[in-house]
Amino acid sequence: MPKSKIDQDIRYGCRTDIGQVREHNEDSLLAESPLFVVADGMGGHAAGEVASEIAIESMRKNAPREADCEGLAKAVEGANQEIIKAALEGKGKEGMGTTMTAAVIEGNRLCIAQVGDSRAYLLHNGRLQQITRDHSLMADLIEQGQITPAEARVHPNRSLITRALGNDPEMFADQYEIDIEEGDRLLLCSDGLCGMLTDDIIEGWMNKVQDPQECANKLIEQANSFGGLDNITVIVADLNSFSAKKKKGIKKSRRNAIIVVVAAVAILIGGVVGAGAIINNSAYLCEEEGYVSIYKGLPGTFAGFDLSQKEYGSDVWVKDLRESTQEHFKDGVIRVDNLDAAWRALDNYKQEAQEQKEQNAKKQSLNSGKK
Ligand code: MN
Repeated sequence: MPKSKIDQDIRYGCRTDIGQVREHNEDSLLAESPLFVVADGMGGHAAGEVASEIAIESMRKNAPREADCEGLAKAVEGANQEIIKAALEGKGKEGMGTTMTAAVIEGNRLCIAQVGDSRAYLLHNGRLQQITRDHSLMADLIEQGQITPAEARVHPNRSLITRALGNDPEMFADQYEIDIEEGDRLLLCSDGLCGMLTDDIIEGWMNKVQDPQECANKLIEQANSFGGLDNITVIVADLNSFSAKKKKGIKKSRRNAIIVVVAAVAILIGGVVGAGAIINNSAYLCEEEGYVSIYKGLPGTFAGFDLSQKEYGSDVWVKDLRESTQEHFKDGVIRVDNLDAAWRALDNYKQEAQEQKEQNAKKQSLNSGKK
C-alpha cells in the first residue's frame, strides 16, 4: 500500500480509480503539495481523459503555489482555454470537457477554485463541511427545494453539470478563501465519490482513518462497494504541522472554520452543458389552454434556458377528467420518468375522460327521465 507523502508541512494521499462499470477512467488528479487538483473529464470515447489531462497539465505549469485565490482561478480559466484550443487542433473531441476543483494551501490560508460538480470538503473538529457549490442541475433543484440530496443521488439527470471547462471561452471559476487550522483535513473528490457515499459516511471514514493515503484508499473502496458507478478520485490532505512553526502567531481558537466566499458568482453565462441529456430523459404532462399536453424535459427554465420542449398537444380536455385529476393539473405539472410513461399516462387520461363523459351522459338521461 503506498504511503502518504509529507511535503511542505502537508501530509497527503491520493488515488484515482476506474470504478466498477466504466470502461475508461476519465478523471485526472494533481497532488504536488501545496497544490491539489481533481478533474472529472467528459466527452465519451476517451475524450474526457484527454480533456482532464490537458487541464491538469495546464495547472501543473501555471497554477500558483501560494494562497493566491485570484491566480488560482485564473489558472483554471487558462486550462479552459487550453482544452478549447486542443479540440480545435483535433486533439480529443469537440465538446470534450472537464470539471475542476483546485486547492492551494499556504499557512492557514486555503484557496479553492471551482467549476463543475467535483467537490472540496473540509473536516474541521470532526465535522465535514462542503466548501464548494456544485455547478449542476441537482444543486439548483436542491436549492429550490424541489428535491432532496438523497433524491439527487439517484436522479436520472444527476450528472448534468451547468458549468465546465472546454466549451465556453468566457467561462470563469468560483473562488473560495478559507481560514484553516491545525488538524483540519481537506478532501477533494470527483462525483464518483460523493455520488456513491453520503456526506455522513464520508465524514465517518475521514474521522476514522488517520493516515491520509489509507483514508483515500478506504473512501475509494467504499464507493466501489456501494456500486462504483463512476470513476472515483480522492485527495486527502492533512494540514498538520504548519501551525507548529507559526504557533506563536495563531490564537488557539476552536471556532468553526470560516468559509469566505470571495466571488462565488452564480450567474450562468455558458449555458446548460448537455441540456440534450435532460430532454431525452424526463417528461411531464400539463394543462395548456384547457387541454393536456406532453412535454419532453423538465418543467421551468434554468438560467433563462427552457429545459423542455413540447412533444404533443392532445384533445383531452382537462374539465372532462375526474375532479381529483383536475386538481393535480391545477397544482402544476405531472412529472413522469420518460416519454413512454407520458404517452401511457395520456392514454389513461383519454380513457378516464371517456368514462366520465359516459357517466355524465347516463346521469343526464336519468335526470331527464325523471322530468
Ligand atoms: Mn464523474
